Amino acid sequence: MKTIRFPDGTTVPALGQGTWMMAEDPARRSDEIAALREGLSLGLTLIDTAEMYADGESERLVGEAIASMRDEVLLVSKAYPQNASRDRLPRACEASLERLGTDRLDLYLLHWRGRVPLAETVEAMERLVAAGKILRWGVSNLDTGDMDELVASGGTACQTDQILYNLTRRGPEYDLIPWTARHHMPVMAYSPVEQGCLVAHPGLAAMAAEHAVSPAQLALAWLLARPGILPIPKAGSVAHVRDNRAALDLKLSEGDLRRLDELFPPPRGPEPLAML
Ligand code: NAP
Repeated sequence: MKTIRFPDGTTVPALGQGTWMMAEDPARRSDEIAALREGLSLGLTLIDTAEMYADGESERLVGEAIASMRDEVLLVSKAYPQNASRDRLPRACEASLERLGTDRLDLYLLHWRGRVPLAETVEAMERLVAAGKILRWGVSNLDTGDMDELVASGGTACQTDQILYNLTRRGPEYDLIPWTARHHMPVMAYSPVEQGCLVAHPGLAAMAAEHAVSPAQLALAWLLARPGILPIPKAGSVAHVRDNRAALDLKLSEGDLRRLDELFPPPRGPEPLAML
């Protein structure tokens, strides 16, 4: 299975699992837990959540799903920007740990940039590492200029930038992804199937049908073919998890990649980083 290496040397399977919108509907809870567990059994051991998702209930659902396999999981959660201060980050982290039923996060991210200076967030993250509450930290939704500022603020231990990146959102290829590559930092690609919209794209659907694969697999295989990219699709059913896992085995030819470039052209110049 393809793996991704974080700057501190930790490696994980290159396909993870997202959890936004999970735990919103009690009727779907058992399916969502079954989906996450199926993903784990198929080797998708990175699980991404956030204090924001379902107002903390997504973290509780993840905690229940991974309870018997905690040590096999690379558990990622994210803090609101207003909680990313020296005083508030320890409390936000403790609350996430309590909801997740664990004693440490494997990766803790600043969800997006707010008013707290980056240097203060870096200091707060490093204190959590020193206290053993988190094993490493990173950021999300930071554009190239923010990343320069982060590093200049002492944030050289940042492990990743989690960003909106998929076939229809190729802007980061112009400057942000080259920046992360220069810093040996993987990119976590969120909304890798554009929140499900990509599966209905006619051009992608036609190409997927020719290859006898699903459009979601094709969209994920394109991301997986790129160095340093770790997509985190959210799947609320066992069938979707299995479908997504198969993307790791789908190898795209040079011709396939050229055709996808025609359907979804790469950026011709700098574009501000989009976020959802
Ligand atoms: P996504 O993963 O692109 O799309 C999820 C949607 O696609 C769901 O409706 C899902 O349906 C559907 N889907 C998944 N696999 C499918 C398949 N094989 N065939 C057909 N449909 C499929 O969107 P996302 O949830 O926004 O992004 C993924 C994760 O990234 C999130 O869950 C979250 O963890 C993270 N994220 C982070 C940020 C950030 O600001 N850092 C922002 C957005 C998302 P079912 O639920 O029915 O399976």
